[in-house]
Amino acid sequence: MDNYRLSGRDAHPEDSIFNIAGRTIGGGNFAVIAGPCSVETEEQIVSIAREVKALGASFLRGGAFKPRTSPYSFSGLGTDGLELLKIARAETGLPIVTEIISEAHIETFSQSADIIQIGARNMQNFSLLKEVGRLNKPVLLKRGLSSTIDELLMAAEHIMSAGAEQVILCERGIRTFETKTRNTLDLSAVPVLKKLSHLPVIVDPSHATGDRSLVEPMSLAAAACGADGLIIEVHNHPDCAMCDGEQSVTPSMFGRIVERVNAVRAALY
Ligand code: PEP
Ligand code: MN
Repeated sequence: MDNYRLSGRDAHPEDSIFNIAGRTIGGGNFAVIAGPCSVETEEQIVSIAREVKALGASFLRGGAFKPRTSPYSFSGLGTDGLELLKIARAETGLPIVTEIISEAHIETFSQSADIIQIGARNMQNFSLLKEVGRLNKPVLLKRGLSSTIDELLMAAEHIMSAGAEQVILCERGIRTFETKTRNTLDLSAVPVLKKLSHLPVIVDPSHATGDRSLVEPMSLAAAACGADGLIIEVHNHPDCAMCDGEQSVTPSMFGRIVERVNAVRAALY
């Protein structure tokens, strides 16, 4: 506990509540981040942004720089993708959440993203954590594929000790022997993290399961166990998505998820 100097409850017993571009998250404020895995075209990102906003999302996600397992897969539109996210933000007012994969892009991200995402693959890229932390902008920190809860909190400490105050933790599934799902959603990490840390904790049921039919039940379970929000991949034509189509829900599925999550929260919190 002593090691969690900035992220731990000892330092800050109350839940942290962050105000990010007019949206609140933490301490009973539930936030839904939604959008495609990757930004593909202006028409795609703007239309998905409009739909998810109308259905209850408070932030827009979209990858412009995609870390891909294979070097031959689509790796995002890069800075052009960031420009398209800015257009979608201007059209809808939704703040944008997008992943940084290199320190070389620090300046660009500092000017475009409302929340800078550190992906699972970079959770222990300590020099990137430090550079992002120095910006003192909100950060969404995803748990590494094979990282423990302690390692996730230590990664948050790296960011916070560099200067950032607003770090959101994200459980996105961990690698286990199970193969029926892309990863295994470790939902017990939510109450464990909430016990140890004052930082908001959100769940990514899309990368955790890899299967759009499982996004709704895992979203409901995440809401029930005390998560402060969700990050969900939504695509208007999931079967044609350039990345992660199998796990992307349609806008109408997303609308139903938000309604049912709200019902769970109304019943329990
Ligand atoms: C993502 O959110 O687009 C992503 C790549 O997720 P993760 O880093 O959790 O795999
Ligand atoms: Mn994805």
